[in-house]
Parts: sequence; C-alpha cells; structure tokens
Amino acid sequence: TCGICVEKCPFDAIEIINLPSELEEDPVHRYGDNAFALYGLPVPEPGSVTGILGPNGIGKTTAVRALAGEMIPNLGQWSEEANWDAVLDRYRGSELQNYIRRVMDGDVTVARKPQYVDQIPKQFDGNTRQLLERTDERGALDELVDRLSIRAVLDQNIDNLSGGELQRVALAATLARDADFYFLDEITPYLDIGQRVTAARLIQELAEDGDRSMLVVEHDLAVLDLLADTLHVAYGEPGAYGVVTSPKSTKNGINEYLNGYLNNENMRIRPSAIEFEEHAPRESAKGTPLLDYPDLEHSYGEGEFSLSVEGGTIYHSEVLGIVGPNGIGKSTLAQLFTGDLEPDNGELDFLVDIAYKPQYIQIDQPMRVDTFLSSITDDFGSSYWNTEVAQPLQLERIMEQQLTDLSGGERQRVAIAACLSEDADLYLLDEPSAHLDVEQRVRATSAIRRYAENHDATVMVIDHDIYMIDLLADRLMVFDGEPAVEGHASTPQEMRAGMNDFLADLEVTFRRDERTGRPRINKPGSQLDRKQKREGEYYYAP
Ligand code: ADP
Ligand code: ADP
Repeated sequence: TCGICVEKCPFDAIEIINLPSELEEDPVHRYGDNAFALYGLPVPEPGSVTGILGPNGIGKTTAVRALAGEMIPNLGQWSEEANWDAVLDRYRGSELQNYIRRVMDGDVTVARKPQYVDQIPKQFDGNTRQLLERTDERGALDELVDRLSIRAVLDQNIDNLSGGELQRVALAATLARDADFYFLDEITPYLDIGQRVTAARLIQELAEDGDRSMLVVEHDLAVLDLLADTLHVAYGEPGAYGVVTSPKSTKNGINEYLNGYLNNENMRIRPSAIEFEEHAPRESAKGTPLLDYPDLEHSYGEGEFSLSVEGGTIYHSEVLGIVGPNGIGKSTLAQLFTGDLEPDNGELDFLVDIAYKPQYIQIDQPMRVDTFLSSITDDFGSSYWNTEVAQPLQLERIMEQQLTDLSGGERQRVAIAACLSEDADLYLLDEPSAHLDVEQRVRATSAIRRYAENHDATVMVIDHDIYMIDLLADRLMVFDGEPAVEGHASTPQEMRAGMNDFLADLEVTFRRDERTGRPRINKPGSQLDRKQKREGEYYYAP
C-alpha cells in the first residue's frame, strides 16, 4: 500500500512503495506488540498556531496525550516502564527539548476542545452559562460570547443546542481557559464560513497573547491555510501506524499534501494529485432540465423567518453547490422541493423524488450497518454498488458494526451511502464534509461527482468547505439575507458569478496558488485583497 490505506488500493493504482525512513527508527510510542505505533511528534511553538493535516486514526490524540504530560511515551519499549528522562534524551538538542523539560516539571497547563461536540450534552447537565462559567479563567468570556454569537443561547439547556451552537460554545469554553497549550481537534464542523473565519481569528489572537501554543487539527484546508503558522502533515495506516512529519510552512505543507508527495520525507502518500481548475470554472453541462421552478416565497408565520427564491432550472447530471450562512433557509428550500412545505407564493408543478441527507444525522437504530444499507437498496453488495459507493466511502471495514457504535466520520459516510443508494431524481446532501477527515473528503467528493455523471443524477450539495465546493460543483446557488430573519436564494449561476456574489457578501477574497491552483484566502486589507475587491473579482482572480 502507499501508506494511506490498510486494504486493497481503492484507486487500483499503487505501485510506488517507499517505506518512510522514520519507520526504521523506534517509534515515539507503541501501544503493544503489533499494536499501533506513532512516529514523530508535533512541536508546540509558543506564540503561534501549529496545524496538523492528515487522516483520523493515525495518532493525533496519542501525540497530544504525550505533549499534555498525561502519558509518558515509551519510545517503542512497551514492555518496560516508560520514563521522561529517556524521552528527554531522545529529544535532546531538538526543538522539543525545552517543551519536554517543562512537561516533566509539571509546568504545562493544557486546554482542549474535543472533536465530536455532539457528545457534550451526554457529559454535561445544565445550561450554556453554567458550562462556560466553569472555564472562564481569563475573564474573556464576555468577548468570546459576543464574537461567537452565542449570547442568545446562554440560558438554554445544553441538550437543546444545535451542532453549530455546540461547536461555538465548545470553542468559547476552551479559549476561555488560561493555559499554555491548547489543543483544538477540528474547529469547523457545522459552522458557516463567516463563523469559521471568526474562530480562526480568535485562535490566532490567543496565540499572540502571552506566548501560548495552539495545536489545531483541521480538515477544511482553506481555514487551515488561513489559521496555521506552521504545519505538520500526518500520514500512515489508520489503526496501524502514524507518522507526524517535521514542521513545514503551511503553504508547502498543504501543497505537498494535495500533490500526494512529501518532498523532505521523499514519501508518496497518494497515487495522484488533487487538482483544482486554475482558470475558468467548469461550464455547466446544460443537459436536459430536471426541473423548472418559478419565483417562490415562504414564511413560517407572521414575523417569523421568511424565504424568497429566485426561479430557475436544474439539469440532469449536474452538481449544484449551495452556499450561504446557517439559518438562511437552505433546508426550507429543500422542503419546498420535496413538497413537505407549501410555498405562500409561486407554484411548484413538479414532483421529484428527493433523497435527503440532513446536516444532523439521525441513524440511531440498534442495527448493523450492512442490515441498514441493504434495507435501502437491492443493489447492496453488487459489484457496481461496491465500486461506486462502498469502496470510495470506505464502508467495508465497518459493515458489521452497530449504527449506534459509529464515530462521527463513520456515521457521515454511512449516511452519504444511504442517501446515494436511494432511488431518487435529486440527491440533496447537507454538509457531507462534517467530521470527514481530509482524505475522506477527497474520496467522498469524487464518489459524489462520479455518481452524478454515471447515473444521470442531479445532486445538490450544501457545504461550507470551499475546496469541496470548488471540486464538486458545476454551478452555484447562493443564499444571502439575515439568518433567522429573512433569506434569499439566487437562481443557479455559473461558478464565477456565484462565488463572487457569495464572497462579496462575506468580504473575503481568494487568490489562486500559483503551483496547485488551489484557492487561498487573501489577508484582509492586503494589496491583492483590496485590488480584487475593487475589481469585483473575489474568487477567480488571476
Ligand atoms: P487519532 O486521534 O489520530 O484519531 P488516536 O491517537 O486516538 O488517533 O489513536 C491511534 C490508534 O491507536 C488507533 O488505532 C487506536 O485504536 C490506537 N489506540 C489508542 N489508544 C490505545 C490504547 N490505549 N491501547 C491500544 N491502542 C490504542
Ligand atoms: P439553513 O438550512 O440555511 O440553516 P433553515 O431553512 O433550516 O436554514 O432555517 C431558516 C430559519 O427558519 C431558521 O431561523 C429556523 O430557525 C427557521 N425555521 C426552520 N423551520 C421552522 C419552523 N418549522 N417554524 C418556524 N421557524 C422555522
């Protein structure tokens, strides 16, 4: 294998095998005979944000437990008692030496944000204010509450918060702590782009204030790029071994990752590069229309949220990206299309079968994954279904597990598979990227695109990950307005026009990386940022 998967290569492509040279040395930690081994550690830098880019299951939590002093790394000698002096010896003369000395002296305090915020209500009984007050060690809570827009939910019970609210509450709770070392395991799930950018800023500001070290695992590459000062790429075989590289510049780390080849390590981590279209966006296929719809209006009642929709046409075999803030009416539109809601104005004279994957996944039956999926489609287990759905979504290894035992990323993959397995005219996926690691996003993206092309299927994808939208979508529907008050949906537009609309609203501009063509967020107020805003080219500027 190339080092990113345990089983048969899903790309049928791997021949290059160069075992990483790190594996010839002893690992930093090994859990036991033939058990998972971790090679390399991230280096927390005071005053800066260190990113980790790589799949789940390759030892990030293990590394953080070591850096937090909760576990003494055994340097591969699992049968002997580990001790810090040996660890210090190993890292003598390296950048980690001072840090390890401080851990040994019990001098490092740690704050961490867990990966799966959905679990918080199971662990905490009370309202938001009670949760936050327990962590307000810096007296910064008031500002955090305002900037993360969670004042409205302060007196709500934690049980009643949405995923996006929980994510922001968890961020506030972690950043309110007074620590030397902060570990944030994913900051973006369920947040819209504006909220993602705010979270990134808060983390950077805290790093700068008082020499704190921030370590962030993040799978949204545009946000990671904006956020991190340096980057460790992590790779390996989930469950078997993980390698954390030496720090790279954020730009090079992401470029090498996308290229599938790590330069310094001389290591191929993927058979092919992930490519962005540098120049003009894809022309939409403009095949046969699936449906036409007129201007529509819907409101939930006097003074409640109202949505206006600009009419348009949606085509067969196209992937329509849907972007906009949370609470702006995206799922309301989905329910108008399915017929679950009636428009107040405008008439929908089509009835399409919509397969819908909601943002918050509810698959909690006590049932095995294979039983669940075979109840949805007769194709289950066919070679065609295996190639198109099971393999790219890496379901083989979890088929026999109970739905209730799945991790967040596993649930997401099962839910995407369940949606695509339905017999429908239109597949609507709400935030498929949530909880997928970066490799899984890449695979899910190509699975969804291929599915649309091979099945004459129309796919609508709501997502806040710009890279995923860029790689997936033929055209864009843009929502704007005021969340929870009123929303407006544009007619489906070409990518360039759509992205310009969307980003102008956010006042964020992107440039293209000269080597990989990937979009990079411009520094606000930079020359390029100002120039692109003047010219109205927020996204596809040269
Ligand atoms: P990540 O945070 O990157 O998802 P972890 O550090 O949690 O990864 O785990 C990496 C691997 O180590 C996993 O395969 C996990 O099952 C294994 N592992 C974690 N803790 C233990 C342990 N105490 N004993 C044996 N294996 C473990
Ligand atoms: P999005 O999918 O863009 O996050 P939604 O369409 O779910 O937005 O919701 C838009 C707004 O409508 C939100 O403020 C939400 O609280 C409100 N809303 C959604 N469903 C109802 C309902 N059944 N009754 C009243 N308000 C609702």
